[in-house]
Parts: sequence; structure tokens; C-alpha cells
Amino acid sequence: MELDHLSVIYRGPLSSCNYACPYCPFAKHTETRAEHAADARALTRFTDWAAAQPFPLSIFFTPWGEALVRPRYQQALARLSHLPHIQQLAIQTNLSGSLKWLEEADKSRIGLWATYHPGEVGQERFLTRCAELDARGVRYSVGVVGKKGHFEDIEAMRAALPAHIYLWVNAFKVGDGYYSEGDLARLSAVDPLFEVNTRRYRTRGLPCGAGETVISVEGDGTARRCHFIERPIGNIYAQDVRELLRPRPCSRASCECHIGYVHLPELDAAQVYGDGLLARIPDPAVWADRERLEAYLERAREVGSSSRAVSPRQASHRAEST
Ligand code: SF4
Ligand code: SF4
Repeated sequence: MELDHLSVIYRGPLSSCNYACPYCPFAKHTETRAEHAADARALTRFTDWAAAQPFPLSIFFTPWGEALVRPRYQQALARLSHLPHIQQLAIQTNLSGSLKWLEEADKSRIGLWATYHPGEVGQERFLTRCAELDARGVRYSVGVVGKKGHFEDIEAMRAALPAHIYLWVNAFKVGDGYYSEGDLARLSAVDPLFEVNTRRYRTRGLPCGAGETVISVEGDGTARRCHFIERPIGNIYAQDVRELLRPRPCSRASCECHIGYVHLPELDAAQVYGDGLLARIPDPAVWADRERLEAYLERAREVGSSSRAVSPRQASHRAEST
């Protein structure tokens, strides 16, 4: 089977973090030496698999905790970035680790999904890391969870970041009516696409690229359509991954995470993000074009629920924050 391109969202066993964000259910774990070794084996197996694939591949690392403080993840990204069939590499990170490894990588293929966690890191320190990325010529977006107590930090971060860096805000999804109209206006002034993340997309029966153009893979090779549909579709180490891919309608009632809904053809998020889709970095030409951004918001209003209700059961900032 001829395959133009596949995106793989990789989540290995690593589940520790050097931060302790109160809104994060991940990363409460401290790995033993044996668990670190198991994560390292899984990562090596996955990078070997990725290196061997005969088609264009992009990879997004979405760990349960913070992986980029670990040299093994830095080395894996650097190694993969030099392979000719690798198109884009992205990773969710709190940006606290060393960035020196980037000099070993082909930086043109790397995008960082960098999340700012007020309370865990000072703004000055986070901005210093962003300036280092700029000096190294690395693409990144900056994100923050839109908790009410964060609004002033979010606005200050927007004011301090270079204008060309996208600051996105994830809705704090803890139940209906968390945001007032004033809150929505305030956060939309910071992130013009904030509204997209406040919506719950009614996806059951809708076509979705998950399972066809993008899959989620665990450390043991178990492949799923996405992080949100439990049922596996196969195992990348047991069969040719191309055998697992086919168009399928979404089987869930709704999808609320950026890393999921951006694969809905009806939303056509790729039109906004281009090759920055995985790292959530909008295409600069689209970003400068208000009409095209407004068209994306309009599509989100059509596909998403009209209410800005969010479900406590599916607090999607959990999947998106790191
Ligand atoms: S819409 Fe979301 S939940 Fe449904 S298949 Fe796509 S990514 Fe998965
Ligand atoms: S939200 Fe991210 S940075 Fe914060 S504790 Fe969880 S994994 Fe760590």
C-alpha cells in the first residue's frame, strides 16, 4: 500500500514530572530504576521502528509527564530529525530541561509544544527558555491552561512573548459555565483561537483522520486511533502499520482536545496550522490573515456544540497539558 504520510502520536510508559501542577493527574509517579529502563527500551524500540518505515512520517510525543528533561528523549528526537523520511517531530514539554541537545538535531523538523505553568515556574525563567529557542532557531508554541487564577499571568506572558510566537490557551474543562462572557472575551483577546478549544465537537459518525492519517501508539506498540478511543486497532510491532489504516467514522460522542479534533476533516485545522499542526504552531501566512482565522472559527462553531459546556468527565486539559 502506497502511503503519502502518517503521523504517530507516541506515549510511552514514562509518567513522572519535575513539576507538580495541581490540575494535572499525571506525573504523580516517581519511576524506579527498572521503570526508567523499561521506558528507555520502549523508546529505543519505537525510534528503531520509526527509522525503518518506508514512507514519510511525523511523530508527536505526548508523554504522561515530562520527557524532555531525559537525555534519552533528547537523543531520540535528535536522531529521528536527521532521517530523510521524517517530516515533523513535536513534543509536549514544560521547557524546563536543557536545550543544548537541539544543536545535535535538524532543527528545521522540530517543533516544541511548550506549556507555561504559572505556580511551577517564574515568568522570567520561562521567557529565558523561549529566548533561547529563538536564538537557536527552533519553532515552538506556548500554551497555558486557562484557569481563572491564571488570567493575569496569561496576559503578562502574551505581552512579554515575541509577537511571532503563538500563545494558546486551553479551556479549563471542569464543568458548564466556568467562563463568563467576559472571561471568554478576555482569553480570546490573548488567543484568537481560544473559542475553538472551548467547544465540544459532536463527533460520533463524523469522518476523522484518526486511524487513517494519524494513530496513537503506546510503548508496547499497541496502536489506537487516538488517545481517546480505548479499543486498539492493532500493534505496530506485530504487523505492517499500513494494514491498520483505513477511513473510519468517530465512535465517540464528542471530542474536546486539540490533539484530537484537529484531525476532523470538517474542521480542516491543517488549513490554519500547515506543517505546524502537531506542535500547534499556526502557519504564519494564515495567522496574519484574519479572514482565514475567522473562517476556522466559523467551522468550529458549525461542528462544535453551540453551548460552551464542557464535561467534567473528559477534562481534556489533562490530555493536552504537560
Ligand atoms: S474525533 Fe477525536 S475521539 Fe473521534 S476519532 Fe477523531 S480524534 Fe478520536
Ligand atoms: S501539567 Fe505537565 S508540567 Fe504540570 S505536572 Fe503535569 S506533566 Fe508536569
